[in-house]
This record gives sequence, C-alpha cells and structure tokens, in this order.
Amino acid sequence: MNLVFATHNKNKALEIQALMPAGITIQTLEDIGCFEDIPETADTFAGNAELKAKYVAQKYHVACFSDDSGLEVEALNMQPGVYSARYAGENKDDEANLQKVLMELKNYTNRNAQFRTVICLVKDDQTHFFEGIVKGSIRFEKAGTGGFGYDPIFEPEGNSITFAEMSREEKNKQSHRARAFAKMIEFIKE
Ligand code: IMP
Repeated sequence: MNLVFATHNKNKALEIQALMPAGITIQTLEDIGCFEDIPETADTFAGNAELKAKYVAQKYHVACFSDDSGLEVEALNMQPGVYSARYAGENKDDEANLQKVLMELKNYTNRNAQFRTVICLVKDDQTHFFEGIVKGSIRFEKAGTGGFGYDPIFEPEGNSITFAEMSREEKNKQSHRARAFAKMIEFIKE
C-alpha cells in the first residue's frame, strides 16, 4: 500500500519509512507530482493537519497523512502554538522566535511548556487523528546547538539538558513527533 506524507521534506519521509511495517511505501508530495505549498490557515494543530491531508487525499485520490507541530507555553496562554514557525515574523527565523519567547517570559517564574504534534490520516474516506505531547520547561537562556526551532530553550521533563543538547536519537525517544508517529504506526499495523 502507498501512503502519501503531505510534506516536501524527503528526509522526514525517509525517517517515517524506516518505521513503517513491511508492505507500506511512503511517498512525498513530489512523488505524486504535487509541488504546491498547501496553506495552513486553521487555528489548531489538528485543523491544519486535517486541511493538508484532506486536500491531498481528495485532489490526488490517495491515502495521505499530514503533521502539524508547535510549542505551547503555559504563561503565554499556550502561544506560540500554531504560530510557532512565524512567531517573530513571516520570515520564519528560529533564533528570533526563541528570543521572543525568552523576552516574553522574562518576568515569569512559571516556565511550563510543551511541544505538541497532531497527525491527521485520511484513508478510505475516514479521518483519524494521533497526538503526541512532551512536557517540559523553558530555560532562562539557550543551551546546545543540535535540533532546530525552540530546541535550545526547551528542557523536557525528567531531563537536565535541553533538546538541543541531546543526540538526535535521544530526542527521538521522547519527542512529541515520535510519540504521535508511534501511535499512527500502531494503528496502521492493526
Ligand atoms: P512543523 O509543524 O513540524 O513544521 O513545526 C512548526 C514549528 O514548530 C517549527 O518551525 C518550530 O518552530 C516548532 N517546532 C516543532 N517541532 C519542534 C521541535 O521538535 N523542536 C523545536 N521546535 C519545534
């Protein structure tokens, strides 16, 4: 069975392919001839993931899944949320985004935050959602050079280092994305 991952990122697709049971082939948007940048205009992760997966499934008549992720900070009313990529502006600058969060949290002792991923799978006209969360806290200063996005300021619960100080393998053992994908893969295996 072919399953389209609504992404233009070949590496993301290869990572998921490696986790899939035998007989399932992951395709990217390029593989099915879709070169569009599908807009993410919803105000929830689930809404955005569903928009993308449904658009592709309906237009290309394929089974498709899409993921949407972001950082939610308790003291900021769960922002940046769906605006995580462009929190400090449309140019999607990771450094500016994390500096904005540090600045806004400057006077707060409540540093609680979480990363969240929601995956939407559209298959046989049915829609399924899978969620992964990793709870943690926002540091006062950044630490580490690995990962991307807000990783240098996020310390996952039960750790004393940030995501940016971990190896990719270590982060993948507990990340929001890994947890959501594990749930989808369990579902597909069943
Ligand atoms: P996406 O939906 O996976 O593209 O994530 C949207 C935005 O959320 C990214 O551009 C990052 O700013 C942030 N984000 C999502 N996942 C992570 C992560 O694992 N580490 C750091 N930032 C993340």
